[in-house]
Amino acid sequence: MPAKRVDDASRYLPESKTLPALRNAVQKCKACDLYKNATQAVFGAGPASARIVFVGEQPGNEEDKQGLPFVGPAGKLLDRALVEAGIDRSEVYVTNVVKHFKFEERGKRRIHKKPNSAEINACRPWLEAEISVIKPKIIVCLGATAAQAILGRTYRLTKERGKFTQHEWAPYVSATIHPSAILRAPDEEQRHQQFQDFVADLKQIKNKLQRASEAEEGPFLSLDRDKVAGRSR
Ligand code: SF4
Repeated sequence: MPAKRVDDASRYLPESKTLPALRNAVQKCKACDLYKNATQAVFGAGPASARIVFVGEQPGNEEDKQGLPFVGPAGKLLDRALVEAGIDRSEVYVTNVVKHFKFEERGKRRIHKKPNSAEINACRPWLEAEISVIKPKIIVCLGATAAQAILGRTYRLTKERGKFTQHEWAPYVSATIHPSAILRAPDEEQRHQQFQDFVADLKQIKNKLQRASEAEEGPFLSLDRDKVAGRSR
């Protein structure tokens, strides 16, 4: 018996692989069932010239309504952590491994539900396409789902958090917790500690990018590029 064909989003990709074309095309994707209940697909956001790409799990309730990634409570926490780490959000690209919001309804609330591996695999061509346009220096997986989607199912965030791995999609891939995990911390003290640890991870990423840029271009050229990039984005 022939193997059952697993549908994925490849056939929905546009011919022109630009971020605007991909962002437009993803709204027509029906490669898995998640499009049925979500308001809209939520594609990544940020400049095509970004050198860091943050990848989360999936859009949340607020992202689903607004059509933008990381604009809900976890996104606001990410913004604050980026500021503390000295990383300009306007110079990074943020996206998710799955582009439609998966949830279950409890009364009037829509509660996040983790996407399964078939949904993650179905959606992979969108992530791969946006990464191939951006060609980032560093990909940062936010949370175990994103880390396992990119680094493999045996990846253990608790053991390997903060380490850098070479990957076909980028010279460096690292993983840290998803900011929503900080929001779920049981008390203020733990929330504070987890936030500080998260910021420390982001600072490490910033340093890695700086060192990688200097190794590639020399310290003065890399600083110049930062200035030019800051003006042009
Ligand atoms: S979640 Fe991804 S694969 Fe599934 S319908 Fe949405 S865009 Fe397509």
